[in-house]
Amino acid sequence: MNICIIGTGFVGVVSASVYASFGNTVIGLDIDPQKIEKLKHGQVPFFEPGLSDLLLEQQKSGNLHFTTDYSLAVSQAEVVFVAVGTPSTSTGEADLKYVFATADSIAPFLQENAIVVIKSTVPPGTLTQYAERVKTKTQAQFFMASVPEFLREGSAVADTLHPDRVLIGTTEPEVAEKLTLLHQPLQTQIIHTSPESAQMAKYSANAYLATRITFINQIADLCEKNGADIEEVIQAIGQDKRIGSQYWYPGLGYGGSCFPKDVKELAAYANSIGETNNVLIKINEVNEQRIEKILNQYEQKIGGWLNKKVAVLGLSFKPETNDMREAPSIKIIPYLLSKGAQVLGFDPKAEWPVNGDISFFTATPPVTTVSPDSSFTQVNTINDAVRDVDVIMCVIEWPEITSFDFSQSKSAKTQWFVDTRNQFSPKEVTAWGYNYLGIGR
Ligand code: NAD
Repeated sequence: MNICIIGTGFVGVVSASVYASFGNTVIGLDIDPQKIEKLKHGQVPFFEPGLSDLLLEQQKSGNLHFTTDYSLAVSQAEVVFVAVGTPSTSTGEADLKYVFATADSIAPFLQENAIVVIKSTVPPGTLTQYAERVKTKTQAQFFMASVPEFLREGSAVADTLHPDRVLIGTTEPEVAEKLTLLHQPLQTQIIHTSPESAQMAKYSANAYLATRITFINQIADLCEKNGADIEEVIQAIGQDKRIGSQYWYPGLGYGGSCFPKDVKELAAYANSIGETNNVLIKINEVNEQRIEKILNQYEQKIGGWLNKKVAVLGLSFKPETNDMREAPSIKIIPYLLSKGAQVLGFDPKAEWPVNGDISFFTATPPVTTVSPDSSFTQVNTINDAVRDVDVIMCVIEWPEITSFDFSQSKSAKTQWFVDTRNQFSPKEVTAWGYNYLGIGR
């Protein structure tokens, strides 16, 4: 099939490369000319394991192209995917301005019977509004569908090639048939739903996972006070098949480009239709306060952050990505600096902005600028970060960090080892000579 993918961010580039690998002719489009220039030269504008090889392979095969030209991209396409960003507004609703802008841009070039698929995460009702907008600018007959994306950054290629399921949300049988054919090579279960169910399924999946994280954090807080160990509790409850042993992450709360916004957007959507007493508002509130709460607890134990030298290990929001949107480091580093600490940061891939402006990475207050002459330095090795510090704070479980031999970096003075994701054995860390602080243990 001839496919066009609008928006070449994390979802767009991965999807374009994977659809191309099935023998389709795919053209990726973005309004960011720098991004498109890089992609045209086979460079992925962000770090995602395995994506660079797949992209180059598909470009060489002639199946995959990139452009900024809507006329070129859309006029040939049987299926147009919309994969642009849907950040939340300051009041929590999904900001659909990028999505609707694509409606205006594709409309004049849509071919007869084209299928427009919204892959971006959008609330129910969006498809109807989108179609109405397109109709004002074209005479062509077109169809709409919702095929939400479930990939995870850091394993996006594998997730897209081997998804747990593909959701095809449409009311048109011919559209369902064509999109089923397109996704057949994935050899996974294809679930046919209405567009509204597909959209609700996407939001619900992320909201549930975020709720699970918030729930276990609150249980961890109880363990902290009563001598229980959250890891032992998780092991025990996980044996119950109704609960399961996967996806328990006591820590500093959820972050990244999706969970925080999706929880807020679902809460705002619930509010907008009169379902005001919903748990999601509280989940968001608890999560937004999480980092400060935990850092305050550590502060009590460590005896203040003033003049402490702290190594923050892991700046991205999770391992295997350089995406820093809503990463814990975005809150931790300004917090520590405001308390008078000197901070050294390390990450295998993510880079702290040179000008210190982190406002792009977070929508949640405080949006703090860390000036270049502040007491923050990003260093290139873990050794450089941890040398003679007062506190080693392991924030993200990059394999480079969890497998590092911290016993070699212990100096003669009192040093704290803060394990914000319970990745280390308290016994071992204590044996190395550090004072250990984890979460709920
Ligand atoms: P992103 O911010 O990485 O990329 C979006 C891209 O869209 C940018 O390159 C931007 O320049 C481009 N764009 C914006 N307006 C445009 C326009 N009018 N025409 C063409 N291009 C335009 O976003 P992402 O992380 O890939 O997410 C895209 C959507 O997928 C969002 O709705 C998100 O919630 C959803 N999603 C993301 C993930 C993820 O892990 N990133 C996973 C599942 C679903």
